[in-house]
Amino acid sequence: MKGLEKKSREWLEERGVSVKDIAELVYFLQSPYHDNLTLEECIYNVEKVLKKREVQNAILTGIQLDILAEKGMLEEPLQTTIANDEGLYGVDEVIALSIINVYGSIGFTNYGYIDKQKPGILKKLNDKSSDFCHTFLDDIVGAIAAAASSRLAHSYDEEID
Ligand code: MG
Repeated sequence: MKGLEKKSREWLEERGVSVKDIAELVYFLQSPYHDNLTLEECIYNVEKVLKKREVQNAILTGIQLDILAEKGMLEEPLQTTIANDEGLYGVDEVIALSIINVYGSIGFTNYGYIDKQKPGILKKLNDKSSDFCHTFLDDIVGAIAAAASSRLAHSYDEEID
């Protein structure tokens, strides 16, 4: 495993997100369309997404900003905006877009849906009563799940990397 992948996986774990958590989001999105879908298949597709460099960079960048906001180390007005996860900021979603697109445009639909429903780990990350700042991480995790769902959907009818 290369350095960037190792680091981005470690940071996800340290921030309370496991591969299985993300795979469960994929299962939530794809099980209505694929009979006999297994969690293992979802895990496999999440693993593939985590190998992409643009995904690793998005994870590291987003988590870094979350951590700095948590420590109060950003300059204003960013400190307040990111620490409070202000709705009109939108750069967290833009970073997520770089992930969503890696397996084609159906990722957008999946991301939009999961971002509204907030199942599983997404609900936990959005708990504003915690001391953690997950302004970037929630979008990144949703985007990884959306990309893995697209990959899984495509894999049913074609060979992809
Ligand atoms: Mg966000």
